[in-house]
Amino acid sequence: MLLERATVRAGGTTDVLIAGGRVAALGTAAATDPRAAGAERLDLAGYLLLPAAAEPHAHLDKALLARRAPNPRGDLDGAVTAIRAAYATMDEADLRSRATEALLTALSHGYTAVRSHADVGEGIGTRSVRVLTGLRERAAALLDLQVVALAATPVAGAAGRHNRRFLAEAIELGADVVGGAPALDPNPQAALRTLVAAADEAGLPLDLHLDETTDPDMLTLRTFAAEVARRGLHGRATASHCVSLGQQDPQTCREVSRALADAGIAVVTLPQTNLYLQGRDDPTRTPRGLTAVAELREAGVTVAGGGDNWRDPFNPLGRIDPFETASLLVAAAHLPVADAWDTVTAHARTALGLPPSVLVPGSPADLLAIRAADLDEAVAAASADRIVLRGGRVVARTRVTRDIVPALEEPLA
Ligand SMILES: [Zn+2]
Repeated sequence: MLLERATVRAGGTTDVLIAGGRVAALGTAAATDPRAAGAERLDLAGYLLLPAAAEPHAHLDKALLARRAPNPRGDLDGAVTAIRAAYATMDEADLRSRATEALLTALSHGYTAVRSHADVGEGIGTRSVRVLTGLRERAAALLDLQVVALAATPVAGAAGRHNRRFLAEAIELGADVVGGAPALDPNPQAALRTLVAAADEAGLPLDLHLDETTDPDMLTLRTFAAEVARRGLHGRATASHCVSLGQQDPQTCREVSRALADAGIAVVTLPQTNLYLQGRDDPTRTPRGLTAVAELREAGVTVAGGGDNWRDPFNPLGRIDPFETASLLVAAAHLPVADAWDTVTAHARTALGLPPSVLVPGSPADLLAIRAADLDEAVAAASADRIVLRGGRVVARTRVTRDIVPALEEPLA
């Protein structure tokens, strides 16, 4: 296939030749390549062509449950209570239907890699993992789906034995990653150690929901960094949320950020959900529910941006859209647009343990074309007019038409 006249991030337009699922040539080399002669052509004039995005943190099993599982308090505790009450209604057919809808929405928005957590434990068992691992196989031609077994609390000690058994069963079923939320456990430090040990013993990467609170006294990241370093899990551990790190004094924040960098831990920040859930007890001087994005980046930590929840009890909004996450990180974390975009592409892939995706010959042709003149416009306007390629094949296309009526006798401009 020959992609013609696509605008690229650095500016200017280019042709892109795709062969064997990979970017084969760019610019004049693409147009003059003998393989271009008989190639299918796709005119991308007016589109910005980017490597496809990666979603480092979703909850496909909870998607679209906002109405069925209302959370009137709007905070994290209310959301956890609401989802547990809805478990009985979440059978495999229901899970499959909502997760599929979410995954196809993600694909059409430009994601060709998604990591989804799946609740595991008493009340839900392992059926979310069963459904998502099945979806992972069926959707493999469209995108890479990673399934995180999100162990319920309590998970430590005698009280946690049932949830540990479900976690072991989820690993047996083929979960890709070990997950959990130690801050929700009666003993957060013990829960954290239990989950790190479970991942190490299973030989799997781990991705924990850590310190998802604005309470500065809840800070398990130090223990996490120490445990990951002690077990040699460098590059295989991710800390999601890390909200309370954003509430520390600068000295503590710097020290913890360095420990995370040294331990090779990636951090996933989740602006849509954490701006929604956190800070509700403080109607004035409301704390921003984000981690210390600038300090982490300064320390050399890989910081990825994720969408988290999609119209469920944890967040009634969300679009599963990389441009939405990037836009929120510009506004709420004060990242420049280019850096915000990197959090949902290059840095997200690093956090997921995936090879980098760049627009150079030899790279897999997982690409996203969006109607925009440049990256600033793409992030600001987030046009729905997009074309997504996976392995050089168009797998999703959304068209937008705009009609303004009635026709004006006098033109406005
Ligand atoms: Zn989450």
